[in-house]
Parts: sequence; structure tokens; C-alpha cells
Amino acid sequence: MTEEETTERSAEILRLALPLMSKHAPGFQPVSYALWYEYAHGGNGALRTEVDEALRGEERLSWNRTQALYQRHLLDGAEQAFTRARADLISLLGKMQGSVKEAATDTSEFTATLDAFGEQLGRCGTVAEMQERVDSIMGEVRRVNGSLQQLDGDLVSSRGEIQRLSDALAKMREEADTDALTGLRNRRAFDRELARLAGEGDALGASSCLLMVDIDHFKRVNDTCGHLFGDRVLQGVARAIAATVKGRDLVARFGGEEFSVLLPGTDSAGAVCVAEQIREAVSGIRIRRAQSEQTIASVTVSVGVAQRAPGESFDGWFERADKALYKAKNNGRNRVEKAT
Ligand code: GH3
Ligand code: MG
Ligand code: MG
Repeated sequence: MTEEETTERSAEILRLALPLMSKHAPGFQPVSYALWYEYAHGGNGALRTEVDEALRGEERLSWNRTQALYQRHLLDGAEQAFTRARADLISLLGKMQGSVKEAATDTSEFTATLDAFGEQLGRCGTVAEMQERVDSIMGEVRRVNGSLQQLDGDLVSSRGEIQRLSDALAKMREEADTDALTGLRNRRAFDRELARLAGEGDALGASSCLLMVDIDHFKRVNDTCGHLFGDRVLQGVARAIAATVKGRDLVARFGGEEFSVLLPGTDSAGAVCVAEQIREAVSGIRIRRAQSEQTIASVTVSVGVAQRAPGESFDGWFERADKALYKAKNNGRNRVEKAT
């Protein structure tokens, strides 16, 4: 395929992807773009099959579903892109080495030429002979100068290329750890951070707490105000939680309308206090509907709090926090409950 054909093909895929992006919940977001571009491109059969299947069940893909499809089918792509970028970098370094070696050869040849020039000058009998020698050495100087300039140019452009690759890698890593809707960590990043803390001797300490926060009757918000509005509520709740915690505390969107908060070095009483602050902050949120002065009835959350028992597995800990959350739901919602 020529470059022009490739550009044309990309434009065609983009033309197909745009209406799909606008139709489904996340709209014009990078995750959505990646998914629908890949779908329109058609190369990824597994992704296409699963999307088609999902579309038979729901006409408009939700944010969650889009994110899940992206994670399953394209995140590995990000790993591939990472590998590709690394290979690019290695080949670039090889090229740079080549340029340096070439310039080095040129300069060492030049030294030899200079030596010979000295001898030849000693033997010159006439001005014309001398003129001829000088002209030839000028030519050499120009050649070596050109090759050094080339090296300089190569190094400058390589530096730019390395910077570009390194920025792309940093962005890729950040995107893989971030929940695109709320900007919080995603679950994968939360799990990894938790494992890291646990590995760091006793960073989690004897008293660390986990909060599971779940929006109350969120389905109703979606049903009455639409998914896009629901997404804005999720963003508002995420902001309220993030603004309440501080320092070493870790917040993530655990999935759907559920958030997890890790409070290292915080005992159960302290954690209940933070949970109450989150509950209050969320109940104070008012989100206006687009093109309307009307705000919806307040959003509330229920929170389960669990302090980690000595030697307890993460699974066991999460399970107890979850049970506490369900107790909060059963006891009337908009409340905080502690695990047993
Ligand atoms: P409960 O008080 O028992 O938690 O009730 P609920 O309605 O919040 O719970 P349920 O688990 O039945 O429904 C969760 C809803 O959250 C279902 C789904 O439509 C919605 N949801 C999950 N993720 C997203 C999202 O990314 N965007 C939007 N708009 N809605 C989402
Ligand atoms: Mg809920
Ligand atoms: Mg839930």
C-alpha cells in the first residue's frame, strides 16, 4: 500500500468511526475513539464479534461496556505499542551509533590527510603546486565539516524522536492506569498499588482501612435523566471523594458506580469519620441538567468500612468491606456501616 492509500484508508475508517462514537455513551473520548476505530477498521475479529453481540442486547453501548471492551481487546494493543516503541528506540540508537561511527571514520581519515598535507607542503616547489594542495585540503575540510554537520543534525533529530517516544510511552502508561470518565485510578492501578504497599514491609500497618462506596439507586438516575447525565453524576461523586481524602490515601473507580478508598495507617474510627465526610460531601452535590436550571434530587452514597485484620488476604478484606456496604444498603442507604 502506498502512503497515500494508507492515508486514504485511515480517513475512510475515521469517517466510519465518527458516527459510531457520537452514538454511544462515552462520545468523543480517547477510549471510545480507539474502540470504534478498531471496529470500523475490521481487523480485530474478536472485538467485532463481541461488539456486534453487545449491540444486539443494547442499542447504545454504555460507558462501562465500552471501557470493558477496550480493556479486553485493546489494552493488549497498548502493550504491543509499547513493545513497538521500544523496538523503534533501539533501531534509532543503532542509527545514531552508525552516524557517530561514520563521523569518527571521517575525522580519523582527516587526521591522516592532514599529516600527508604537511609532508606534501614541504615538497612543494611552486606556488601553483601549493595552490593545488591547498585547494585539495579545503575540499577535505568541507567534506569532514559536512559529515560533522550531518552528525549534529542526526543527533538533534534523534533527540527529538526519543523525546516524542518517551512522551508517548508516559501517556500510554498513564492512560492504562486511569479511568477515563472520572480521571481516578482504575481498578487495575488500585490493585497494583495495594500490592505494592503490602510488599513494602508493613506500609499498610496494623491499622489500614478500606472503604467501598456505592451510589444509591443510580439506575434510577440513569433511567430518569439519561446515561450522559449519569456520567456527569459519576464525575461529580468522584470529585467529591477525591477532595475528601488526602496524603497517602488511594481512591479508585472500582467499577460501574462503585468506588474504593484505601486509608493506610487509619484505624476503624478514623475511617468511619472519613466515610461520613464522603457521604456528606456527596449528598451536598447538585448537578444541573444541560440547558436547564433544574437540578436533580440529591445523590447519596452508601459506604462499607473494613479495617484489615492481621494477615488477612486482600480478597477477605474486600469481601468484608462489601458485606458492610450491603449492610448500609439494607439499613436504608445514605449511610456508613462498619464490617464485623
Ligand atoms: P443500589 O442503591 O442498590 O446500589 O442501586 P443501584 O441502582 O445503584 O444499583 P444497581 O447495581 O442495580 O445499578 C447500578 C447502575 O449503575 C446500573 C448501570 O446502569 C449504572 N452504571 C454503571 N456504570 C455506569 C456508567 O459508567 N455510566 C452510567 N451512566 N451509568 C452506569
Ligand atoms: Mg448503586
Ligand atoms: Mg453497585
